[in-house]
Amino acid sequence: MPDKTWFGKITRRLFLVFLLFALVPTTVLTFLSFRYISNESTRQVNRLQDEQVGVMVDSLLGRLTVLNERLSYLAEDEELQLAVDGDAEAASGKERYSVLSIADLEAAQGSRESAFPAARLRDGGVLLVHIGAAPAEKKVYLVRAIDPGDFSAGLAAFQLDVTSVLGEPDSWDLRLASCVYDEQSKVLFATEAGVCKAFAGLDAYRGNYRGLATTNHEGVEYYAGYKSIYLGSVYGAHDWRALVARPSMEIFAASEEFKRDFFSLVLLVVLLISLVSIFLIRRQMSPLGQIMAGIERVARKDYGRAVEVSSGDEFEELADAFNGMSERVAHQLLTQASMSEIDQLILSRVKKEDIIQIVLEQTRAVLPADNIAMVLVQQDAELAEVYRLSGADELIHTGAQFESSLRQRFMQDDYLLLQGTDSETPHYITATEIPSRFYFQSIPVRQEDELIALIVLAFKQCPEFGEDDVTLAQNYADRIAVALANAEWEQRLYRQAHYDGLTGLPNRMSFLDRLGQNITRVERQQETMGILFIDLDNFKLVNDTLGHPVGDEFIKLVAARFEDCMRAEDSVSRLGGDEFVITAAGSADHELTVASVSRVANRILEAAARPLTVEGHEIRASASIGIAIYPKDGSDPETLLKNADTAMYHAKSMGRGKFQFYSSELNAQLLELMRLSTDIRNALEQHEFELHYQPKVDTYSARIVGAEALVRWNHPSRGLVRPDEFIKAAEGLGLISAIGDWTLEAACRQQRDWRNSGVVPVRVAVNISAVQLQQDEMFAKIDSLLTKYNLEGADLELEITENLLVQDMESAVKVLSQIRSLGVAVSIDDYGTGYSSLSYMKELPVDTLKLDSCFIIDLCEDSADQAIVNSTIVLARNLNMKVLAEGVETEGQLQILASYGCNEIQGHYFSQALPEQEFTALLKMDQPFAAPEGSQALADS
Ligand code: C2E
Ligand code: MG
Ligand code: MG
Repeated sequence: MPDKTWFGKITRRLFLVFLLFALVPTTVLTFLSFRYISNESTRQVNRLQDEQVGVMVDSLLGRLTVLNERLSYLAEDEELQLAVDGDAEAASGKERYSVLSIADLEAAQGSRESAFPAARLRDGGVLLVHIGAAPAEKKVYLVRAIDPGDFSAGLAAFQLDVTSVLGEPDSWDLRLASCVYDEQSKVLFATEAGVCKAFAGLDAYRGNYRGLATTNHEGVEYYAGYKSIYLGSVYGAHDWRALVARPSMEIFAASEEFKRDFFSLVLLVVLLISLVSIFLIRRQMSPLGQIMAGIERVARKDYGRAVEVSSGDEFEELADAFNGMSERVAHQLLTQASMSEIDQLILSRVKKEDIIQIVLEQTRAVLPADNIAMVLVQQDAELAEVYRLSGADELIHTGAQFESSLRQRFMQDDYLLLQGTDSETPHYITATEIPSRFYFQSIPVRQEDELIALIVLAFKQCPEFGEDDVTLAQNYADRIAVALANAEWEQRLYRQAHYDGLTGLPNRMSFLDRLGQNITRVERQQETMGILFIDLDNFKLVNDTLGHPVGDEFIKLVAARFEDCMRAEDSVSRLGGDEFVITAAGSADHELTVASVSRVANRILEAAARPLTVEGHEIRASASIGIAIYPKDGSDPETLLKNADTAMYHAKSMGRGKFQFYSSELNAQLLELMRLSTDIRNALEQHEFELHYQPKVDTYSARIVGAEALVRWNHPSRGLVRPDEFIKAAEGLGLISAIGDWTLEAACRQQRDWRNSGVVPVRVAVNISAVQLQQDEMFAKIDSLLTKYNLEGADLELEITENLLVQDMESAVKVLSQIRSLGVAVSIDDYGTGYSSLSYMKELPVDTLKLDSCFIIDLCEDSADQAIVNSTIVLARNLNMKVLAEGVETEGQLQILASYGCNEIQGHYFSQALPEQEFTALLKMDQPFAAPEGSQALADS
């Protein structure tokens, strides 16, 4: 038992109270009895003193009486008379007897009492007189007349001394000092002269008949009783005083001893009481000490030992109560600890399955059960997933039906106790595969008015589920609800962070992550792989013309198509916007990988090119793909992605719908492209662009009927640069609109100049890029240019390449119709290179088809070309369109075209594109070219 409890505060307090209650009466009693006893002893001493002094006085008076009698007897004795007469011999032995004359007496007495001695003596009485010259020599005599009738016979006298007054020294009590004083307190007789003298000086008892006194003599305290000796009536003298003194120490020795013993005794008793009370209190309090020790153990979280008290009193009850309480506290604390442990475990888990695993493993630390299962309830179906642990603690799960009535029931009730054999045992319980003889307690896990799960506790015996248990279970269920919600939230965050919201494909971050992992794997297996960077061509167009919702839907459909093209080992991710990336698995051989990745790229291009219908709009997409091969084109995700991107850029610059492998030269080209971008911007600012004009010639009159404005770049270092070298790039770089705007305005200005200078004006055709036609303001721009330069619509023609029109037919038709309403002519450039069929063309608001030069080059030799050209011209004519043949270089070509009825000719045969002054000069001549032979006849036919 710990030491401090046995004499703890209460014990101490009890002890003090006990002591107080023991000491107060003891002290009072001691005090009273002590006072009584000491008073009594003083009284006794005093009585003794009084008695002693009384005895002394009595014996003194007795002696005086004897002496008096002897004196009276002697007065009649003859011998005495003889002695008085002077017979010394006879007088010897008669001690101090003497005969005095009355004169002696009178002399001794003086005048003071001259009358009365005589009278007393005459009456035959005795007289006590002091006779002496000086006070120191005075002697005390007892005197009597020998013959009372005749004083001349003399007076018989006896001189008193110590012996005669106080008896023989042998009989003196040596412990006592006996003193006799005269009326002036002068010492008359003393057994101890010093002591008596000391008392003589005290005034205290002057005037008192009897009493007590103390004084010091030679450092010793004496205590004395005194008493007056009445002498007046018998001896005719003043009263004497008798005193008997003893050292106080002797007198009070007994009482001092008593006092000493008494106090020792009292002290002893008090000590005894203390010891006994300590012993008793300690014995009574020892259960308290045990309880205290128990409390301390509990405080130290040591719940293992109960307090054992069998005192049969309230302490025992207290100990029992304490044991019960600490048991509950221990249980609660343990539960709490387990709960917070579980809390920590489940809250740190992101995966639902991990949480379930922990719940199944740990629940029994909190809630007792023989077996346990967890049921996840699906929100939008009458289904549930039932989880339990296999023997190897492996999580297994099965599906079960979950009736909506149960769902409602669990929203109201806090638990549901079922016996396994109940006919109404729900499916979710049978799915736990726990034997049906068990009892099942289902605790709902709810979250914001929704039942999300159940914890199913299974018991072999019917469980007692108290109110505390229900609260605990509910508390526990709430924590699980929080953990599950947390996990779901985390998963959503994870999805948001790693997956693209629109397509559900992995995003850039997870792509890079996965690519990193793939690289590690591929590197280990010494394989190669391809990274395909896909960019949709003209996605911006879809967004701008059809709106973002259509654009989003379009992206989703395209993404789905891409996924469909994937082999199992490939994966597609969306980097953002219209950019996708594919990781395509390869083999150990680089060439084989290149081949297989090319096949993937082709499949993607095909998939992208197939028309798509979104909200009733038919959209023809195309994609450009750049490919980087690991490890040749980079060994880390960033480099691979960057190089694939570069390759994609290049693919775009080659014209859309193509794929391109990365090469280091390609990178250089890209750099070149970047430089070009800066140069073009500079060129626009520095007015380095100029227009050359190529005549369009009427097949039959050979007159110039129009001119195509072709841009040239008067490069400061490279000289004259042809558009083939920068138009595609400018489109890719987003600079074509700026160039196009400049061309349009320059052409209009030129037209005005020609008109102002009075040359015969011809229609000027300007090439329009796809991007320009997508501009909403194209119509307004042309309209304002015509106004600005005061031109007719018929003065201007727009050339649009066929591919461009086909991509977005609907809006192209709209814009072109508007432009044509101004009188501006529209022709299809490079006709025959695109996918369009003529029947398709009939929808288009077009004036002229410009047959591409690829049909003309071999026209004289190639009968297929001839057939195509011929039928095209026939069909065009039927559709009220004119046909112009481009790239006509020879007489033969011209002849054939003329024979087919081709309306106009453009080509080196007549003229190449000429600088402005040369072309102006040509116009000024206003002459037809030399018409080919027979052309007139053909025209007529
Ligand atoms: P295009 O519109 O088909 O222009 C005709 C091209 O064929 C011109 O080349 C012209 O010089 C060339 N050509 C004409 N006759 C013959 C011939 O008999 N034999 C041969 N081999 N070539 C002939 P150029 O000027 O180099 O222009 C190339 C392309 O550049 C044009 O093809 C046009 O698509 C584009 N382009 C030119 N100027 C512009 C412009 O201002 N804006 C836009 N967007 N594109 C332009
Ligand atoms: Mg053209
Ligand atoms: Mg052309």
